[in-house]
Amino acid sequence: MDVNPEQRLLPEYVTPTYRMAVEQFEAVAERLSLDPNLRERLVVPRRALIVAVPVRMDDGHVQVFNGYRVHHDNTLGPSKGGLRFHPDVNLGEVSALAMWMTWKCALMGLPFGGAKGGVRCDPVRMSRNEIQKMTRRYTSEIAPFIGPEVDIPAPDIGTNAQTMAWMMDTYSHLKGHAVPGVVTGKPTLIGGSAGRVEATGRGVVYCIMEALRYLKRPHGGLRVAIQGFGNVGANVARFLHEEGFRVIAVSDVHGGTYNANGLDIPALARHVAAPEIVGTFKGGEPIGNDALLTLPCDLLIPAALSGQITEENARRISCAILAEAANGPTTPAADRILRERGIFIIPDVLANAGGVVVSYFEWVQDLQHFFWKEQEIYEKLRQIMGEAFMAVLSLSLSEAIEMRTAALMLAIRKISDAKLARGLFP
Ligand code: NAD
Repeated sequence: MDVNPEQRLLPEYVTPTYRMAVEQFEAVAERLSLDPNLRERLVVPRRALIVAVPVRMDDGHVQVFNGYRVHHDNTLGPSKGGLRFHPDVNLGEVSALAMWMTWKCALMGLPFGGAKGGVRCDPVRMSRNEIQKMTRRYTSEIAPFIGPEVDIPAPDIGTNAQTMAWMMDTYSHLKGHAVPGVVTGKPTLIGGSAGRVEATGRGVVYCIMEALRYLKRPHGGLRVAIQGFGNVGANVARFLHEEGFRVIAVSDVHGGTYNANGLDIPALARHVAAPEIVGTFKGGEPIGNDALLTLPCDLLIPAALSGQITEENARRISCAILAEAANGPTTPAADRILRERGIFIIPDVLANAGGVVVSYFEWVQDLQHFFWKEQEIYEKLRQIMGEAFMAVLSLSLSEAIEMRTAALMLAIRKISDAKLARGLFP
């Protein structure tokens, strides 16, 4: 089997992030002795749509953005995955994120395939009006590619509940009636689910609690460093702070803040809501993103971009547990180093799956037009996260492999069995 993706994929796909996803997949496929035909099919996305998104900017000129929506797989159901607005978005990154969504949904037992979308833009430099027009035009361009039975977007970096509301509204206008089930992560007023905004952060914390129970470590006062203070990072910080952990450092794209005694997270959240950047917080000292990653701590939580822990800094990472709240934060080379050093890794497909689990609940509620209470959502989320964690941990112990390989083995085996059961059309 040729493991060089350049020779098997269109060159447009082959970016560093896609190479990472393929390298992880190939290693697990090898270990599972996966049918070579399935290897060929799963290494490449099923469909990829590239759209031009013209927007009249506030100064009157028209700017054309590149937009993408990739369906990696839809064997188990409609594909599911976030929408990212970020300057680094490209086809390879979106495709890697879509592949990871396939594994994540399969691991969590959800009836979804994997997808991802993105627009290459810098939302920090755009007005609300420009972002709204870009979101609506992008939605209309990908409309034939999405829908409650086809593919269901959700928030990711640079997008939020408001973005989902604009997408839902645009799609509903095209259909002539309200279609809440076309996106998840929307406001509750228009069919969103209780608890969706905090779901990813909550899921990360459930996994951390399971890991500490297994490692027999009491959690009071444990030191935590978090890269990224957006939806996921800020909620993880909030919940860990409430549970008595000591969050000593957090950051955003501009840099971070550090306090060895523990940051006042509610005060930091108010500071950021002002709005202010994390680095100007008075309750801590400024710290750079690189320095944050290598701070001595008990728990390191990357909650921003992929490819942050690399061969270059992996030897200097100084934590006991790495909980991957972001997608793909650790390169395969760094992964090998961390493994040798005995760092316990909760891999992204497990750690950050709380978001897609509650997105699944939202989709079910929308289809049934019947909504659940917040308490019910959290109980079901905790149960699903706990069961998935234990399934991954027990395979990892019985096969003497690390958690990432165990998680991907469970997911890839499930998809490959389902593909074999369905057969190849025609
Ligand atoms: P967000 O846009 O709300 O926040 C992103 C944060 O990362 C911001 O604080 C931003 O300033 C920071 N950031 C951006 N570039 C950075 C850089 N170069 N260095 C350091 N920090 C940087 O996004 P989010 O929804 O919180 O997503 C964060 C991560 O979690 C992403 O990897 C995403 O794919 C993953 N994720 C999100 C969800 C979800 O439900 N939102 C679910 C699963 C996984």
